[in-house]
Order: sequence, then structure tokens, then C-alpha cells
Amino acid sequence: MKQRLSILGSTGSIGVQTLDIVAENPHLFEVTSLAAHSNWEPLARQAIEFDVDCVVIADESKYEPLKQALADYPIKVFAGEAEMESLVASSEVDVVVNALVGYAGLRPTVAAIKAGKKVALANKETLVVGGDIVMRLAAEHRVPIMPIDSEHSAIFQCLVGEHSPIRRLIVTCSGGALRDLPIEKLADVTAEQALKHPQWQMGAKITIDSATLVNKGFEVIEAHWLFGIPAEQISVLIHPQSIVHSMVEFEDGAIKAQLGSPDMHMPISYALMYPYRASRPSERFDFLAHPTLTFAEVDRVKYPALDIAYDSLRRGGTAACVMNGSNEVAVAAFLAGKCRYPDIVGAIEYAQSRATFVAQPTLDDYAASNLESRALAAEYLKLK
Ligand code: NDP
Ligand code: MG
Repeated sequence: MKQRLSILGSTGSIGVQTLDIVAENPHLFEVTSLAAHSNWEPLARQAIEFDVDCVVIADESKYEPLKQALADYPIKVFAGEAEMESLVASSEVDVVVNALVGYAGLRPTVAAIKAGKKVALANKETLVVGGDIVMRLAAEHRVPIMPIDSEHSAIFQCLVGEHSPIRRLIVTCSGGALRDLPIEKLADVTAEQALKHPQWQMGAKITIDSATLVNKGFEVIEAHWLFGIPAEQISVLIHPQSIVHSMVEFEDGAIKAQLGSPDMHMPISYALMYPYRASRPSERFDFLAHPTLTFAEVDRVKYPALDIAYDSLRRGGTAACVMNGSNEVAVAAFLAGKCRYPDIVGAIEYAQSRATFVAQPTLDDYAASNLESRALAAEYLKLK
């Protein structure tokens, strides 16, 4: 039987690569539904190509053109973010690929879990914000959460077949676009500079998060929730070549690593096909083309966001939700040329020092905390 997929964020970097995997494996997958924010033209093209049953466009102002574009096809069209929750709960869906960006991913993940769907999760913000609720619900509903994030996929792969305690997770980090820039130059960094990631082609938000290392901080939090490992046993190592995708150290001193070219098709296909693997004949790693793999300590002064994330994880409650909400606003402002690079961390610190802290949040508390932290960041950045 084919797996029937609902792909949220199908027009983005992960979404498009997920559709590549579907196209390469038509005997394994079919696509039931797709969702995007406002890019209705590619969404319409994808819907037709993959012969889907229905699509959601979150931005309601794009409903009409999308509806028009699909008028000759038997494809249902819905508009509004909330529609994604019913989309994923459909009886025609087996697996939900959450490739949304930001806080918007949380509710659809929860809806998918409650409907008993397997979740292939790229949207790390789901776990950064609501990891406690999400993992508890997944256990309750016996729903697997398969990581797509390359580091977490690597850790997952290292853990297959292991029953012994873990000493340490080692999350590798390319260092992002500004790795080789001296700290004194950071204040003048432009969005264009920060968008030039040395190894990965990704959406704009995660590329900026990679430059600030907010992304790596989020990945520490994500690893904590996915694998149940405390912050003290998760370390981060700079690995500029992005060949070792992450590692697990066991109590006997053994370290397992997962290696490969930096290409998200691999973790996406693994999340969908586990315990099997895709056949991708073009993937041939050439060790001699990569004779040197290096590792270095993260400069915690240059990258304060990493410690802020560790601290948010230790504080628990709404701390990481505040970090995420304020970061989203600051990154959007930076991309729009409305603030400077150091203001991103400035906005996070401002929001965290003022936001209401809820120790045991519900989903509604997270929603309120997200709004509050966004407002605080906007206030700090003097956005209208
Ligand atoms: P992109 O910005 O490329 O794509 C985001 C997708 O989500 C687009 O389809 C966008 O639609 C849609 N979207 C955004 N906001 C909403 C919303 N409110 N409602 C509905 N749809 C929405 O992001 P990426 O693919 O790079 O990243 C997706 C997630 O995966 C992020 O959480 C990221 O951290 C994570 N990730 C990404 C990696 C990568 O290589 N790209 C690697 C590891 C993790 P539209 O096109 O209409 O704007
Ligand atoms: Mg990653």
C-alpha cells in the first residue's frame, strides 16, 4: 500500500525536496494534500502535477487566484491557516510532512498527532515551542515523530539498534555564513551576506538562524525533546565541511556518526521510508574529494544565541517559545532591512527579560506567549 502524504509547506525548500522523493518513488507514495502560505502559483502547479485531492493556502487573499488556477481540476481549495488542521486529520492521509516555517507549524503537528498520523517533522519550531506537549501527545497516541532535520536524522540513525544509555549527543554545526567573519564586523553584516550559507540551500529564515546560531540552539532543544536527553548531555561542535551530520557517544566510549553529502533528500527520504532506505544511485560520497574533516569549539561570545537556547531549555515552560517568537520577528525585520544583525539577539534578550513566564504551559499559553514575545520584539526593534 502506498503511503498517502499531506505536505505542509510544499512550496518551500523542504517541501519541494519532499516532492522530489515522491516523484522518484511513485510506487511508495502518493500526495493527498498540499499547503503553502501565499505562493499560489507553484502550489497550483504542484497540485496538478501530483494529482492531489485538496490544497490549503494560508493567506486568504490568494484564495481566488488559486481557485481559478485549479478550476478545471477536481481539487478542493481551502484558505486560512486553521484549515491545515482539518487537512492533516483527513482519513485520506497516513503521513504528515510538516515543512512549515516558524510557530505556524505547532498546531498542525498537534492536529496530526491527535488524528494518529505519522509525522515527518522538518518544522523544528514545533518542538522548540511546544516540545513537552507534542512529545507527550505523540506517546499517548503512539504516533512516530520522524526527524527531517539532518542532525536529528543522523542521531536517529546512530541510535537504530542501540539499547544502552547515551553518554552524549554531539550536534555538528557548519558555523553558518558568518563563520569566518571577525566578531567586530558583525554589526555591519547585511542580509545578503548572512544569506550565503556555505553548505546548504535553505529557506531564508533558517539561513539567518544558521548565521546567528539560533538554529543550532533550536536544534539542541529539538534533540532534547526527540531523544529525551538533558541539555548537559548535548554538545555542539563546529564542523565546517558538514559531512558528519551529528554523532552519538555511548558509555563504553564508542562514538557513532552518520556521514554524507549535505543534501536534505537523504534525511527526508529516511523519515518517510524508515526502516528502509531510498535507492539514490546518484549519491556517491567521494572521501578523496573530502580528505579533511575538522572540528572546533563554538565561540560563545560571537554566538550568544547558543547559550540563550541552552538557558531556555533549562528554564523550561514558555522560555523557548519566547526565544522563538522574538527571533521570528527580528529575523523578518533583518531580512526586510529594518534592523541590524546584532538586534536579532538584542530582541530575543529584551523579550526574554520582560515576557510573562508560564512554567507549565498549555497550547493556549504558548499562543499567548508567542504573541507577547512578538510584540516585545517589535517594541525593541521599534517596528510599527
Ligand atoms: P521555506 O521558507 O523554504 O518554506 C516554508 C514553507 O512553509 C513554504 O511552503 C511556505 O509557503 C510555507 N509557510 C510558511 N508560513 C506558513 C503559514 N503560516 N501557513 C502555511 N504555510 C506557510 O522554509 P524551509 O523549507 O527552509 O524550512 C521549513 C522548516 O524546515 C523550517 O522549520 C526549517 O527550520 C526546517 N529545516 C529546513 C531545512 C532546509 O534545508 N531548508 C533543514 C532543516 C530543517 P510560501 O511559499 O507560500 O511562503
Ligand atoms: Mg539542521
